[in-house]
Amino acid sequence: MHKLGLRGRKFFLTPVCLVPNGRAHLGHVAGPLLKMDVLRRHLLRAGAEVKMVSVSDVHESHVLIKAYVEGSTPATVANRFSAQIAQDLAALGIEYDDLINPLDREWAGTYDKVNRDFLNGIIRSGNAAVRSEPLPILAETGGAPAPEGAWRPGVGDPIVSGWLKGRCPYCEQPLVGFFCESCGGHFSPSQMQNPATAYFPGTLRFEDRTSLFLDLRKGAPAILEHLEKAQVRRDFIEIAKRYLDANGSSIRLTVPSPWGIPFEHPEVSKGQVIFSYSALLIGCHFVAGERYRQLTGSELNPLARESDVTCVLSFGIDNTVPFLVGAVGCALGQEMYKPMDHFLVNYFYDLDGSKFSTSRGHVIWAGDIVTLGGAEVDLVRAYLCLRNPEFGRLTFRADEFLQFHNELGARMAAVTNEALRTAASATAWDPGVMRYLEVELGLQTDFLTPATFDLAGAFSCVERWLQRTPALHVTADAAAAWLYGFALLAWPILPKAAQRVWTALGLPGTPSLEQTERGFVKPESGNGTYRTLTRAELNACLPASLRR
Ligand SMILES: [Zn+2]
Repeated sequence: MHKLGLRGRKFFLTPVCLVPNGRAHLGHVAGPLLKMDVLRRHLLRAGAEVKMVSVSDVHESHVLIKAYVEGSTPATVANRFSAQIAQDLAALGIEYDDLINPLDREWAGTYDKVNRDFLNGIIRSGNAAVRSEPLPILAETGGAPAPEGAWRPGVGDPIVSGWLKGRCPYCEQPLVGFFCESCGGHFSPSQMQNPATAYFPGTLRFEDRTSLFLDLRKGAPAILEHLEKAQVRRDFIEIAKRYLDANGSSIRLTVPSPWGIPFEHPEVSKGQVIFSYSALLIGCHFVAGERYRQLTGSELNPLARESDVTCVLSFGIDNTVPFLVGAVGCALGQEMYKPMDHFLVNYFYDLDGSKFSTSRGHVIWAGDIVTLGGAEVDLVRAYLCLRNPEFGRLTFRADEFLQFHNELGARMAAVTNEALRTAASATAWDPGVMRYLEVELGLQTDFLTPATFDLAGAFSCVERWLQRTPALHVTADAAAAWLYGFALLAWPILPKAAQRVWTALGLPGTPSLEQTERGFVKPESGNGTYRTLTRAELNACLPASLRR
């Protein structure tokens, strides 16, 4: 099993930064977040040095909008939801080494400096250009003025980002802001069909304003070359390519807003901040890299050009152009940081056949399925790996989840408890079972390698191990080896069950491949059960429309 070991290898995992205008829901978890915790545990199991750090995307425009809608300040909104998001993810065993709120006094200075230095690096390298474009300007307006502490655009202000609604110029779907969630398109406000104010009545006129744009001299081929080198999936490269074909290697770097990291330049219109879907988007991960540096005592940011740390980032399909064009393009346009080594991607995750929607209340908050719904953390994770939107749009179905939860929980408790009884008199790990385990771990390792990442595949290895129980429990030594294999295979996905078995086997720490070299330990005893969930319990975390 030593050939599966990763001792000496270093990894920096940095999941997409969530916008703190609401809590984390199961769509976020099933999409870009759970997979990073599964990868983290897999790498730790193999003996690698791993840190997982991300940042709260506090300066996204919807934080400002949420503050206007609820009559509070954007900092209040960002701080409240940053804390709730951290709780939601912890409830599902998604363990960040740190999840930074850049509004915290401890991080505000670093966040500001890293992002300014990064943008200035792009400008210094000659890869940015000031451009004039027609922007929608508020001509007349009505509606409520902003309450004390909140802000909304006034007459004469540009209406952009989440304040602007209309239809996508490519697919004609309704949307707000610069990006189309339906087709992944990114466009300028002047291209939008039927542009109008989104949160208050008003009329618009168009006026030329100047902003800063990426103007990568190496052009689109340099971006595409990096995406192939990073082994980004073909279906996602196609989305980036469609944008590059239409726009070249150019994307917005600054945007009019009073909320964000201010950007002043003599040729750029006043009142702009660093755009949260290109330079700031990846800049936040460089800030997370500074936290990695603190945690590991490393000299370099893991994303520095000269760093030997393997860096992996995860995002969903709606962020394809921002990451694959914006983040990669910006990183290729300066000298300090390298573009990400690997991207893990996903399609949309639906709830009972339609999109998760905070505004419609069509949502299951991540922590609630455990705290209100009474589900077992392990079994939620296993279901989300089995029904995962990595390769296409997929949906969470409450009935299917309930059946899966109770069936797998009962089966897993029965076989592990029986094996623990059988293994009590073991004196060694059965060599035949250990050979089978090596094959299964090798396969699961391939499923958890960034270029061939496949969560359902990784879970299938656990499922196969459970199904082979009758053949692998014949003797005490076989049962002991089977339990050892179960703990190793299950830990990335079902950490609680795996840890319980590992500890019952008398083994130290968390499940680790290196125990194979350290050798057999006499099993202790242990027992575990999973809750049987009722539909009435599960209802407590479901939106009203799905309760039955
Ligand atoms: Zn579209």
